Amino acid sequence: MSLLITNIGSLVTNDPALGSGPLGLLTDAAVVVEGSSVSWAGPASAAPAADTSYDAAGRALLPGFVDSHAHLVFAGDRTAEFNARMSGQAYTAGGIRTTVAATRAASDAELAANLTRFVREALRQGTTTIECKSGYGLTVADEARALRIAAEHTPETTYLGAHVVAPEYAEDPAGYVDLVTGEMLDACAPHARWVDVFCEKGAFDGDQARAILTAGIARGLTPRVHANQLSYGPGVQLAVELGAASADHCTHLTDEDVAALASSSTVATLLPGAEFSTRAPYPDARRLLDAGATVALSTDCNPGSSFTSSMAFCIAVAVREMGMTPDEAVLAATLGGAQALRRTDVGRITPGARADLLLLDAPSHVHLAYRPGVPLTAAVWRAGVLEV
Ligand SMILES: [Zn+2]
Repeated sequence: MSLLITNIGSLVTNDPALGSGPLGLLTDAAVVVEGSSVSWAGPASAAPAADTSYDAAGRALLPGFVDSHAHLVFAGDRTAEFNARMSGQAYTAGGIRTTVAATRAASDAELAANLTRFVREALRQGTTTIECKSGYGLTVADEARALRIAAEHTPETTYLGAHVVAPEYAEDPAGYVDLVTGEMLDACAPHARWVDVFCEKGAFDGDQARAILTAGIARGLTPRVHANQLSYGPGVQLAVELGAASADHCTHLTDEDVAALASSSTVATLLPGAEFSTRAPYPDARRLLDAGATVALSTDCNPGSSFTSSMAFCIAVAVREMGMTPDEAVLAATLGGAQALRRTDVGRITPGARADLLLLDAPSHVHLAYRPGVPLTAAVWRAGVLEV
Protein backbone atom coordinates (compact mmCIF):
# COMPACT_ATOMS: atom_id res chain seq x y z
CA MET A 1 0.00 0.00 0.00
CA SER A 2 1.23 3.49 -0.85
CA LEU A 3 0.17 6.70 0.87
CA LEU A 4 0.29 10.21 -0.58
CA ILE A 5 0.52 12.97 2.04
CA THR A 6 -0.30 16.11 0.16
CA ASN A 7 -1.13 19.77 0.72
CA ILE A 8 1.89 20.08 3.05
CA GLY A 9 2.32 23.81 3.69
CA SER A 10 5.97 23.46 4.68
CA LEU A 11 8.11 20.32 4.36
CA VAL A 12 11.44 19.82 6.14
CA THR A 13 13.38 17.15 4.21
CA ASN A 14 16.86 17.80 5.69
CA ASP A 15 18.22 17.30 2.17
CA PRO A 16 19.52 20.52 0.59
CA ALA A 17 19.17 18.85 -2.82
CA LEU A 18 15.39 18.70 -2.40
CA GLY A 19 14.68 22.24 -1.20
CA SER A 20 16.11 25.44 0.19
CA GLY A 21 18.76 25.76 2.88
CA PRO A 22 20.20 23.06 5.14
CA LEU A 23 16.63 21.94 5.96
CA GLY A 24 15.88 21.29 2.30
CA LEU A 25 12.66 23.22 2.84
CA LEU A 26 9.75 22.95 0.37
CA THR A 27 6.39 24.71 0.38
CA ASP A 28 3.20 23.28 -1.19
CA ALA A 29 4.80 19.87 -0.96
CA ALA A 30 3.87 16.19 -0.93
CA VAL A 31 5.42 12.96 0.31
CA VAL A 32 4.73 9.41 -0.84
CA VAL A 33 5.18 6.51 1.57
CA GLU A 34 5.53 2.93 0.29
CA GLY A 35 5.25 0.45 3.11
CA SER A 36 7.68 1.54 5.82
CA SER A 37 9.74 3.92 3.66
CA VAL A 38 9.54 7.25 1.93
CA SER A 39 9.50 6.73 -1.83
CA TRP A 40 9.12 10.30 -3.03
CA ALA A 41 9.20 13.90 -1.73
CA GLY A 42 8.74 17.07 -3.76
CA PRO A 43 6.28 19.72 -4.98
CA ALA A 44 2.63 18.68 -4.56
CA SER A 45 1.95 19.56 -8.19
CA ALA A 46 4.42 16.88 -9.32
CA ALA A 47 3.40 14.11 -6.91
CA PRO A 48 2.87 10.63 -8.31
CA ALA A 49 -0.39 8.78 -7.67
CA ALA A 50 -0.79 6.52 -4.63
CA ASP A 51 -3.32 4.03 -3.23
CA THR A 52 -4.53 6.36 -0.47
CA SER A 53 -4.06 10.00 0.39
CA TYR A 54 -3.89 12.21 3.46
CA ASP A 55 -4.61 15.95 3.35
CA ALA A 56 -2.08 17.82 5.51
CA ALA A 57 -4.28 20.94 5.21
CA GLY A 58 -1.39 23.34 4.77
CA ARG A 59 0.43 22.28 7.92
CA ALA A 60 4.15 21.55 8.43
CA LEU A 61 5.67 18.07 8.07
CA LEU A 62 9.13 17.23 9.36
CA PRO A 63 11.15 14.09 10.13
CA GLY A 64 10.25 12.44 13.43
CA PHE A 65 12.59 13.58 16.19
CA VAL A 66 15.69 11.47 16.87
CA ASP A 67 16.34 11.57 20.62
CA SER A 68 19.87 10.21 20.86
CA HIS A 69 20.29 10.45 24.65
CA ALA A 70 17.82 9.11 27.21
CA HIS A 71 17.84 7.06 30.41
CA LEU A 72 14.47 5.33 30.51
CA VAL A 73 14.94 2.03 32.34
CA PHE A 74 14.38 3.02 35.95
CA ALA A 75 11.92 2.96 38.80
CA GLY A 76 11.13 5.46 41.51
CA ASP A 77 10.71 9.16 41.68
CA ARG A 78 12.96 12.10 42.60
CA THR A 79 10.40 14.84 43.03
CA ALA A 80 11.74 15.64 46.47
CA GLU A 81 15.29 16.05 45.18
CA PHE A 82 14.10 18.35 42.37
CA ASN A 83 12.07 20.34 44.84
CA ALA A 84 15.07 20.69 47.16
CA ARG A 85 17.30 21.75 44.27
CA MET A 86 14.82 24.40 43.19
CA SER A 87 14.97 25.53 46.82
CA GLY A 88 18.72 26.05 46.63
CA GLN A 89 20.61 22.74 46.86
CA ALA A 90 23.27 21.95 44.23
CA TYR A 91 23.08 19.03 41.75
CA THR A 92 25.73 16.33 42.13
CA ALA A 93 26.25 13.00 40.35
CA GLY A 94 25.48 11.17 43.61
CA GLY A 95 21.70 11.55 43.26
CA ILE A 96 21.81 8.75 40.70
CA ARG A 97 22.16 6.27 43.59
CA THR A 98 18.60 7.07 44.72
CA THR A 99 17.27 5.77 41.42
CA VAL A 100 19.65 2.80 41.56
CA ALA A 101 18.06 1.60 44.81
CA ALA A 102 14.52 1.90 43.41
CA THR A 103 15.47 0.26 40.11
CA ARG A 104 17.12 -2.74 41.75
CA ALA A 105 14.00 -3.25 43.86
CA ALA A 106 11.66 -3.16 40.85
CA SER A 107 10.44 -6.21 38.94
CA ASP A 108 11.19 -6.73 35.25
CA ALA A 109 7.51 -6.07 34.55
CA GLU A 110 7.58 -2.74 36.39
CA LEU A 111 10.67 -1.59 34.50
CA ALA A 112 9.21 -2.70 31.17
CA ALA A 113 5.93 -0.91 31.92
CA ASN A 114 7.77 2.32 32.82
CA LEU A 115 9.85 2.15 29.66
CA THR A 116 6.79 1.48 27.49
CA ARG A 117 5.08 4.50 29.02
CA PHE A 118 8.03 6.81 28.36
CA VAL A 119 8.60 5.62 24.79
CA ARG A 120 4.90 6.17 24.10
CA GLU A 121 4.99 9.58 25.78
CA ALA A 122 7.91 10.56 23.53
CA LEU A 123 6.15 9.20 20.44
CA ARG A 124 3.08 11.31 21.15
CA GLN A 125 5.40 14.33 21.00
CA GLY A 126 6.94 13.30 17.69
CA THR A 127 9.98 11.25 18.74
CA THR A 128 10.23 8.24 16.43
CA THR A 129 13.77 7.12 17.31
CA ILE A 130 15.01 7.02 20.89
CA GLU A 131 18.24 5.87 22.45
CA CYS A 132 18.11 4.18 25.84
CA LYS A 133 20.89 3.67 28.37
CA SER A 134 21.32 1.31 31.26
CA GLY A 135 23.02 2.73 34.34
CA TYR A 136 20.53 2.46 37.19
CA GLY A 137 21.31 -1.18 38.03
CA LEU A 138 25.09 -1.14 38.57
CA THR A 139 25.24 -4.90 39.19
CA VAL A 140 25.94 -7.49 36.51
CA ALA A 141 22.37 -8.82 36.60
CA ASP A 142 20.64 -5.43 36.87
CA GLU A 143 22.60 -3.80 34.05
CA ALA A 144 22.03 -6.81 31.77
CA ARG A 145 18.29 -6.87 32.42
CA ALA A 146 18.00 -3.10 31.81
CA LEU A 147 19.55 -3.56 28.37
CA ARG A 148 17.49 -6.66 27.65
CA ILE A 149 14.31 -4.69 28.41
CA ALA A 150 15.49 -1.63 26.46
CA ALA A 151 16.33 -3.77 23.42
CA GLU A 152 12.67 -4.75 23.15
CA HIS A 153 11.86 -1.10 22.36
CA THR A 154 14.85 0.27 20.46
CA PRO A 155 17.97 -0.94 18.66
CA GLU A 156 19.80 2.06 20.14
CA THR A 157 20.79 0.53 23.47
CA THR A 158 23.73 1.85 25.44
CA TYR A 159 25.69 0.08 28.15
CA LEU A 160 26.23 2.64 30.92
CA GLY A 161 27.42 0.46 33.77
CA ALA A 162 29.83 3.36 34.33
CA HIS A 163 27.13 5.85 35.30
CA VAL A 164 28.45 6.19 38.85
CA VAL A 165 30.48 3.82 41.02
CA ALA A 166 28.06 1.28 42.51
CA PRO A 167 27.44 1.91 46.23
CA GLU A 168 29.00 -1.48 47.11
CA TYR A 169 32.28 -0.26 45.59
CA ALA A 170 32.34 3.20 47.20
CA GLU A 171 35.70 2.36 48.83
CA ASP A 172 37.02 0.46 45.80
CA PRO A 173 36.37 2.38 42.57
CA ALA A 174 39.15 0.47 40.79
CA GLY A 175 37.34 -2.76 41.63
CA TYR A 176 34.18 -1.35 40.10
CA VAL A 177 36.00 -0.40 36.90
CA ASP A 178 37.28 -3.99 36.76
CA LEU A 179 33.70 -5.23 37.03
CA VAL A 180 32.42 -2.80 34.38
CA THR A 181 35.20 -3.79 31.96
CA GLY A 182 34.95 -7.50 32.78
CA GLU A 183 32.03 -9.58 33.94
CA MET A 184 29.43 -6.81 33.56
CA LEU A 185 30.56 -6.03 30.03
CA ASP A 186 30.37 -9.71 29.13
CA ALA A 187 26.75 -9.85 30.33
CA CYS A 188 25.71 -6.57 28.70
CA ALA A 189 27.50 -6.50 25.35
CA PRO A 190 25.06 -8.92 23.65
CA HIS A 191 22.18 -6.49 24.35
CA ALA A 192 23.96 -3.21 23.57
CA ARG A 193 25.06 -1.27 20.51
CA TRP A 194 26.92 1.48 22.39
CA VAL A 195 29.18 1.91 25.42
CA ASP A 196 29.02 5.10 27.47
CA VAL A 197 30.68 6.53 30.59
CA PHE A 198 29.93 9.50 32.83
CA CYS A 199 33.33 11.18 32.74
CA GLU A 200 33.03 13.71 35.56
CA LYS A 201 34.26 14.59 39.02
CA GLY A 202 32.35 12.32 41.38
CA ALA A 203 31.86 9.72 38.64
CA PHE A 204 34.79 8.47 36.48
CA ASP A 205 38.06 10.26 35.67
CA GLY A 206 39.79 10.29 32.30
CA ASP A 207 41.89 7.16 32.89
CA GLN A 208 38.92 5.16 34.16
CA ALA A 209 36.76 6.39 31.29
CA ARG A 210 39.42 5.40 28.77
CA ALA A 211 39.66 1.89 30.25
CA ILE A 212 35.86 1.48 30.15
CA LEU A 213 35.42 2.74 26.59
CA THR A 214 38.40 0.78 25.29
CA ALA A 215 37.04 -2.43 26.81
CA GLY A 216 33.66 -1.77 25.21
CA ILE A 217 35.25 -1.12 21.82
CA ALA A 218 37.12 -4.42 22.11
CA ARG A 219 33.73 -6.12 22.55
CA GLY A 220 32.33 -4.52 19.40
CA LEU A 221 30.49 -1.60 21.02
CA THR A 222 30.84 1.96 19.72
CA PRO A 223 31.60 4.69 22.26
CA ARG A 224 29.63 7.75 23.28
CA VAL A 225 30.57 9.83 26.30
CA HIS A 226 28.88 11.93 28.99
CA ALA A 227 31.47 14.69 28.68
CA ASN A 228 32.14 18.08 30.25
CA GLN A 229 28.70 18.44 31.84
CA LEU A 230 29.41 19.83 35.29
CA SER A 231 33.00 20.98 34.83
CA TYR A 232 35.91 21.17 32.41
CA GLY A 233 37.54 17.79 31.95
CA PRO A 234 39.02 15.18 29.61
CA GLY A 235 35.73 13.73 28.33
CA VAL A 236 35.45 15.57 25.02
CA GLN A 237 39.08 14.98 24.03
CA LEU A 238 38.75 11.33 24.94
CA ALA A 239 35.55 10.99 22.90
CA VAL A 240 37.22 12.50 19.84
CA GLU A 241 40.40 10.45 20.29
CA LEU A 242 38.46 7.18 20.52
CA GLY A 243 36.19 8.02 17.58
CA ALA A 244 33.05 8.26 19.69
CA ALA A 245 29.83 8.86 17.80
CA SER A 246 28.90 11.59 20.25
CA ALA A 247 30.16 13.70 23.14
CA ASP A 248 27.12 14.53 25.23
CA HIS A 249 26.44 17.66 27.32
CA CYS A 250 29.50 19.73 26.22
CA THR A 251 28.58 22.46 28.67
CA HIS A 252 32.11 23.38 29.82
CA LEU A 253 34.39 23.47 26.77
CA THR A 254 37.84 24.94 26.22
CA ASP A 255 38.78 26.32 22.82
CA GLU A 256 40.76 23.09 22.30
CA ASP A 257 37.64 21.02 23.03
CA VAL A 258 35.62 23.00 20.49
CA ALA A 259 38.37 22.66 17.90
CA ALA A 260 38.62 18.92 18.50
CA LEU A 261 34.87 18.47 17.98
CA ALA A 262 34.88 20.67 14.89
CA SER A 263 37.64 18.67 13.23
CA SER A 264 36.12 15.27 14.01
CA SER A 265 33.04 13.21 13.19
CA THR A 266 32.09 13.17 16.89
CA VAL A 267 28.75 14.94 17.26
CA ALA A 268 28.32 17.47 20.08
CA THR A 269 25.01 16.46 21.67
CA LEU A 270 23.51 19.23 23.76
CA LEU A 271 20.96 18.45 26.45
CA PRO A 272 19.35 21.70 27.59
CA GLY A 273 16.80 19.88 29.75
CA ALA A 274 19.64 19.12 32.16
CA GLU A 275 20.70 22.73 32.53
CA PHE A 276 17.08 23.81 32.80
CA SER A 277 16.35 21.30 35.55
CA THR A 278 19.51 22.03 37.53
CA ARG A 279 19.55 25.81 37.00
CA ALA A 280 22.95 25.50 35.38
CA PRO A 281 24.45 27.61 32.59
CA TYR A 282 23.48 26.35 29.11
CA PRO A 283 26.04 25.04 26.61
CA ASP A 284 27.03 27.52 23.91
CA ALA A 285 25.63 26.00 20.74
CA ARG A 286 26.51 29.09 18.72
CA ARG A 287 30.21 28.67 19.51
CA LEU A 288 30.13 25.02 18.39
CA LEU A 289 28.19 25.74 15.20
CA ASP A 290 30.39 28.69 14.27
CA ALA A 291 33.45 26.47 14.70
CA GLY A 292 31.95 23.90 12.34
CA ALA A 293 30.97 21.15 14.81
CA THR A 294 27.93 18.96 14.18
CA VAL A 295 25.35 19.58 16.90
CA ALA A 296 22.52 17.34 18.08
CA LEU A 297 19.78 18.18 20.56
CA SER A 298 18.40 15.52 22.89
CA THR A 299 16.29 15.33 26.02
CA ASP A 300 18.59 13.38 28.40
CA CYS A 301 15.25 12.16 29.78
CA ASN A 302 16.00 10.77 33.24
CA PRO A 303 14.38 11.04 36.67
CA GLY A 304 17.14 13.11 38.27
CA SER A 305 18.50 15.92 36.17
CA SER A 306 16.16 16.24 33.16
CA PHE A 307 12.75 14.64 33.46
CA THR A 308 11.40 15.76 30.09
CA SER A 309 10.73 13.67 26.99
CA SER A 310 9.88 16.75 24.93
CA MET A 311 12.18 17.46 22.00
CA ALA A 312 10.04 20.51 21.22
CA PHE A 313 10.88 21.90 24.65
CA CYS A 314 14.60 21.33 23.97
CA ILE A 315 14.30 23.12 20.62
CA ALA A 316 12.59 26.10 22.25
CA VAL A 317 15.23 26.37 24.98
CA ALA A 318 18.08 25.96 22.49
CA VAL A 319 16.71 28.83 20.42
CA ARG A 320 16.05 31.08 23.40
CA GLU A 321 19.14 30.32 25.48
CA MET A 322 21.85 28.70 23.36
CA GLY A 323 22.11 30.93 20.31
CA MET A 324 20.57 28.53 17.80
CA THR A 325 18.26 29.64 15.02
CA PRO A 326 14.96 27.73 14.78
CA ASP A 327 16.23 26.04 11.61
CA GLU A 328 19.45 24.94 13.34
CA ALA A 329 17.58 23.62 16.35
CA VAL A 330 15.12 21.60 14.25
CA LEU A 331 18.01 20.22 12.18
CA ALA A 332 19.86 19.26 15.39
CA ALA A 333 16.78 17.51 16.80
CA THR A 334 16.28 15.41 13.68
CA LEU A 335 19.30 14.96 11.40
CA GLY A 336 21.75 15.82 14.21
CA GLY A 337 20.33 13.07 16.41
CA ALA A 338 20.55 10.63 13.52
CA GLN A 339 24.21 11.55 13.01
CA ALA A 340 24.85 11.08 16.74
CA LEU A 341 23.48 7.55 16.34
CA ARG A 342 25.25 7.04 13.00
CA ARG A 343 21.93 6.41 11.31
CA THR A 344 21.28 7.39 7.70
CA ASP A 345 17.74 5.97 7.52
CA VAL A 346 16.14 8.40 9.99
CA GLY A 347 16.21 12.17 10.57
CA ARG A 348 15.34 13.00 6.97
CA ILE A 349 12.41 12.78 4.56
CA THR A 350 14.10 11.52 1.43
CA PRO A 351 13.51 8.57 -0.88
CA GLY A 352 14.63 5.40 0.90
CA ALA A 353 14.45 6.87 4.40
CA ARG A 354 12.23 5.23 7.00
CA ALA A 355 8.82 6.89 6.94
CA ASP A 356 9.10 8.58 10.34
CA LEU A 357 7.02 11.72 9.98
CA LEU A 358 5.77 14.42 12.33
CA LEU A 359 2.85 16.56 11.20
CA LEU A 360 2.52 19.74 13.25
CA ASP A 361 -0.65 21.61 14.08
CA ALA A 362 1.17 24.64 12.70
CA PRO A 363 2.13 26.04 9.30
CA SER A 364 5.89 25.98 9.97
CA HIS A 365 8.55 24.08 11.93
CA VAL A 366 9.50 27.47 13.43
CA HIS A 367 6.42 27.18 15.63
CA LEU A 368 8.29 24.59 17.70
CA ALA A 369 10.28 27.50 19.14
CA TYR A 370 7.74 30.26 18.53
CA ARG A 371 5.01 28.49 20.55
CA PRO A 372 6.93 26.99 23.50
CA GLY A 373 5.08 24.55 25.70
CA VAL A 374 2.16 24.20 23.29
CA PRO A 375 1.30 20.64 22.15
CA LEU A 376 1.70 20.89 18.37
CA THR A 377 1.57 17.22 17.36
CA ALA A 378 -1.15 16.63 14.77
CA ALA A 379 -0.03 13.16 13.60
CA VAL A 380 3.00 10.87 13.81
CA TRP A 381 3.93 8.06 11.44
CA ARG A 382 6.65 5.60 12.47
CA ALA A 383 7.96 3.30 9.76
CA GLY A 384 4.91 4.22 7.70
CA VAL A 385 2.39 3.37 10.43
CA LEU A 386 0.12 6.14 11.73
CA GLU A 387 0.81 5.95 15.49
CA VAL A 388 -0.60 9.22 16.80
ZN1 LIG B 1 22.65 11.35 30.36
